[in-house]
Amino acid sequence: MINVTKPFLPPIEEYQHYLQGIWSRNWLTNSGPLVNELELKLKEYLQLNHILFLNNGTVALQIAIKALELKEEIITTPFSYVATTSSIVWENCTPVFVDINADTLNIDPDKIEAAITDKTTGILATHVYGNPCDVEKIQAIAKKHNLKVIYDAAHCFGTLYKNESIFNYGDISTVSFHATKLFHTVEGGAVFTQNPELLKKMALLRNFGHVDAINIDGPGINGKNSEFHAAMGLCNLKYIDKIIAKRRSDYEYYKEKLKTLRVAFPTIIKDAAPNYSYLPIIFESNEALNKSIKILNDNLIYPRRYFYPSLNLLNYVSPSSTPISENISNRVLCLPLFYDLTREEIDLIARLLLRVQNS
Ligand SMILES: *Cc1c(COP(=O)(O)O)cnc(C)c1O
Repeated sequence: MINVTKPFLPPIEEYQHYLQGIWSRNWLTNSGPLVNELELKLKEYLQLNHILFLNNGTVALQIAIKALELKEEIITTPFSYVATTSSIVWENCTPVFVDINADTLNIDPDKIEAAITDKTTGILATHVYGNPCDVEKIQAIAKKHNLKVIYDAAHCFGTLYKNESIFNYGDISTVSFHATKLFHTVEGGAVFTQNPELLKKMALLRNFGHVDAINIDGPGINGKNSEFHAAMGLCNLKYIDKIIAKRRSDYEYYKEKLKTLRVAFPTIIKDAAPNYSYLPIIFESNEALNKSIKILNDNLIYPRRYFYPSLNLLNYVSPSSTPISENISNRVLCLPLFYDLTREEIDLIARLLLRVQNS
């Protein structure tokens, strides 16, 4: 069986080494030494000034919305994982969907201004598949209309734009360290900001609003993560360059093998260095997509329809139409891409896709 992804696991002895430390300290969570060490090492690796390690990428989005005090309408993309939309609704705001660019699959900045009303307070955009949005255009629009910007950068560990981490963009950027993501801590996530005030606010939100043991400032949530999760992150971080390099070479190998397949690949904007976190292909039709899924499933290969459905069609949002997102989400498929994937497995997947196309 080949799934769309398979989490990377470090050699077990390396994790056990950290467990011994946890046992001897008997400090399991609440800003322990491994959490602090992971935050430091991540800052170093990503070349960032600030990071807060959290318990998942969805709470990261919710804390970002809370910290920026967004109200009423938030402009967002319909082409993302459902958490992008659900966290807006969970924070009692209204998602206003702006259609995507058909080539990059990210929110189309040229359509944002038409969606701004006097109720708009922010923009929440996803760098889908780890490919950066047009961050400069979005920043200019936000500045002109006095809006806050959050990037759901869940897919973006290691993605660079103009040679710096994409996490540097937006008022706040969030990431997921879930087991299915490129860099993981089993469950986990983080927020990034360049603004020290926002950082302080989010640190309070992460820990119930505790200023210290007896002083509480505002309603917070439990967004903390544990020593066990931090230990997994510390182990995995050592391998991250190898993981990204392997994915990049697999991505290129797939592209070569699939060059006669009638599919499109997303376009990556100028000055961006992606992280190869997914391998999306866009078929010519929904029928071609379904035929391909069937032959792969018949051979115990399980790609995933990231991202379907288009989020404007969820049953808890007001009806709206984003035809490009709806159209692409009916034709896009993510193929297996993970550290342990072999060339023979890629050959098999490519052979099956070409066979069904030519049948
Ligand atoms: C995975 C993901 C999330 C949620 O992250 P969790 O850590 O699973 O809560 C949010 N947004 C996007 C785009 C994702 O892919």
